[in-house]
Amino acid sequence: MITPVLPTYARAPIALEKGEGSHVVDTQGRRYLDFGSGIAVNALGHAHPVLVKVLTAQAQKLWHTSNLYRVPAQERLAERLVELTFADTVFFSNSGAEALECAIKMARKYHAHRGEPQRYRLITFEGAFHGRTLATIAAGGQKKYLDGFGPKVEGFDQVPFCDLDAVRAAIGPETAGILIEPIQGEGGVRVVEPQKMRALRDICDANGLLFILDEVQSGMGRTGKLFAHEWSGITPDIMAVSKALGGGFPVAACLATEKAAAGMTAGTHGSTFGGNPMAMEVAKAAVDLISDPALLDHVVRISNYLQQQLQMVRDRNGAIIEEVRGQGLLLGLKCRVVNSTLVDALRDRGLLAVGAGDNVVRILPPLIINEEDVREAIGILNDACAFLSAQTPKEAAK
Ligand SMILES: *Cc1c(COP(=O)(O)O)cnc(C)c1O
Repeated sequence: MITPVLPTYARAPIALEKGEGSHVVDTQGRRYLDFGSGIAVNALGHAHPVLVKVLTAQAQKLWHTSNLYRVPAQERLAERLVELTFADTVFFSNSGAEALECAIKMARKYHAHRGEPQRYRLITFEGAFHGRTLATIAAGGQKKYLDGFGPKVEGFDQVPFCDLDAVRAAIGPETAGILIEPIQGEGGVRVVEPQKMRALRDICDANGLLFILDEVQSGMGRTGKLFAHEWSGITPDIMAVSKALGGGFPVAACLATEKAAAGMTAGTHGSTFGGNPMAMEVAKAAVDLISDPALLDHVVRISNYLQQQLQMVRDRNGAIIEEVRGQGLLLGLKCRVVNSTLVDALRDRGLLAVGAGDNVVRILPPLIINEEDVREAIGILNDACAFLSAQTPKEAAK
C-alpha cells in the first residue's frame, strides 16, 4: 500500500526533531553531528540566533503580499546581492530548480530580444544536476531522472565533463549559452579547474554566448568565497543561487547582468511566493552573515584542516576510500565500497553525510564548524572505516 507521503525518496530510518549549531537530535534523543547540512542548506548551522530572531520578528508582522506590490525587503536583498556580485539585477524564487528555470528562460529571451529567437539551445555537461522540473532534468541530462517522463524538453546539448573541444564542436547557430556548475555536487563533487572556467568564459565571449553558472550548491560561502567562480577570477552573465541562501528557509535567486536580463520585462516571468517578506528577511540576514570576510576566512582555514584530516583517513583506509576530492567545505569521499554503506555506517555512529553520484559520499558541514567538530567527525569516520574493513572481503581491499 502506498504511503501517505509519496514514496519518491529512499529515506533513512531516523527523524530529526531539533538542532543547534552543527548538531541535530532525533526523535529518540540521539545526537548527530550534521555534516550534510540538509544538502548544503544549513550553512550557518541549526537555529542560528540571528536567523531565528529575524524570522520570528517578520512572522509577527507580515507573511505574504504577492509581487503585485513593491516588497521593500526584496529590494534590500537584491541591492545587497548586486553590491556583492557581478550582477545588476535579481529575480527571487523558492527553489534551486526555479532559479535555473529563470536562468534558462532568460538566456532564451536574451537572444530572442536581440532578434535571434532561433538561438535557444544550451550546452550542458555530463554528470550535471540542475533540479527536477521538466526543463532542469533535460538540462541535467541524467537518464535516471528523465526515464518515463515523456519527451525530454528540447534545447540542451550535453558534452563530456569539462571537455572544451566537445564544447567548441557543439556550438552551432542555435546555441544560446553554456550552463555549468563550478563544482558538480550531486554528480560526485567534481571541481571545474579555474583555467577551464576561464576558457569557457572566453568561448562564450568569442561566440556571443551567455555564460550561466549553477551555484545552487557551490555558492554562499561553501568554498571560502561567497561564490565558487570567484576563485577563477571570471564572472558569469547569469547565475542561479539557492540552498544556503536562506540559511534553511526556502528561497532562491537568479542573478544577472543588465545586458543578459534585457529581455525580461514586465509580464515575462513571475512567481506567487518568490521573494516573499519572510524569505527575504531571513536571506538578507544569512547573506550578511555569510559574506562576512571573517566567516569566509574561517571556511578556508577549517576546510584545510578538514581536508588534511580526511586525507589521513583515506591513507589509513585505502580499501574503503579511494580519494578525497572537492574544494572548501564541498568535499567528496570517492568510495571503494558502495557509498550508501558508508553513509549508513556513519549515521549509525552519529555523523550525517550525503551520498552523491560516482559512488561518492559528500561531506557538507555547516560553515561554522570548529576543530572539535572536525575531530569528532574524523573519529567517527575512522570507526566506520574500520567496521567496513572488517566486513570487506580481502580481494576488494586492493
Ligand atoms: C540542489 C540543486 C539544484 C536544485 O535545487 P532544488 O531546490 O532542489 O530545486 C540545482 N542545482 C544544483 C547544483 C543543486 O545542487
